[in-house]
Amino acid sequence: MRCQPHDNYQVYIWLKSEQMCLLCDEQTDSPHAICIACESDLPWLIDQCERCALPLPMSGLICAQCTRHSPAFNEVIVPWLYDFPIDALVTRFKHQGKWPLGRLLAQLLAQTLQHRFDEGLGQPDVMIPVPLANKRLRQRGYNQAAMIAHWLGDALKLAVSEKLIKRTKDTPAQQGLDARARKRNLRDAFVLSEPAGVTDLHIALIDDVLTTGSTADALARLLIQAGARKVDVYCLARTPKPGD
Ligand SMILES: [Zn+2]
Ligand SMILES: [Zn+2]
Repeated sequence: MRCQPHDNYQVYIWLKSEQMCLLCDEQTDSPHAICIACESDLPWLIDQCERCALPLPMSGLICAQCTRHSPAFNEVIVPWLYDFPIDALVTRFKHQGKWPLGRLLAQLLAQTLQHRFDEGLGQPDVMIPVPLANKRLRQRGYNQAAMIAHWLGDALKLAVSEKLIKRTKDTPAQQGLDARARKRNLRDAFVLSEPAGVTDLHIALIDDVLTTGSTADALARLLIQAGARKVDVYCLARTPKPGD
């Protein structure tokens, strides 16, 4: 027996809506590949420094480090703490090429950003992913920050530029260095390809995880010195202060 057009439509809807949660494998009808239970269980970052998003015991505060040394960026927008399962998801995306996980996290970050834009946060003129050094790029084959930036750009209809900032030095990995060593390591590591191209722009830097914030600070400083109007940082996760 032939299906009636109405039945065909129902089958189409059923096929379209059958989606598995990437975290628990249960079927979900949420627009993203994560079920509502898993989404609400993520380590959402609530109380944080108003500048660098460092987790703090209460909201509306600025952390000691930002008070001592005001970062060159204006604000960090980040949905999660770098804690289970976000740490595992980011690692699988970043080091094992599990792109659907990165895409899911970027879609949820886009949702957080859209919510903030609706509340009055200024939208950037352009988003710039933190560049990888050439050697790292060759080893990994892709820049995870650029992938996040393009997914955000698609979801939020915002421009992305990968060409405005170049990483000139193959700096050693930042992991395991203290703040002072990171700063030294970062000095002169980046250069603007077209300094006049950022004049008066509101720029959002895109990265996967914010640890000390020194990379974002160095890049924001470079952009502000070249005449950018404002620099924000959008990333997936924020680490707590070492030792916390
Ligand atoms: Zn789930
Ligand atoms: Zn801070």
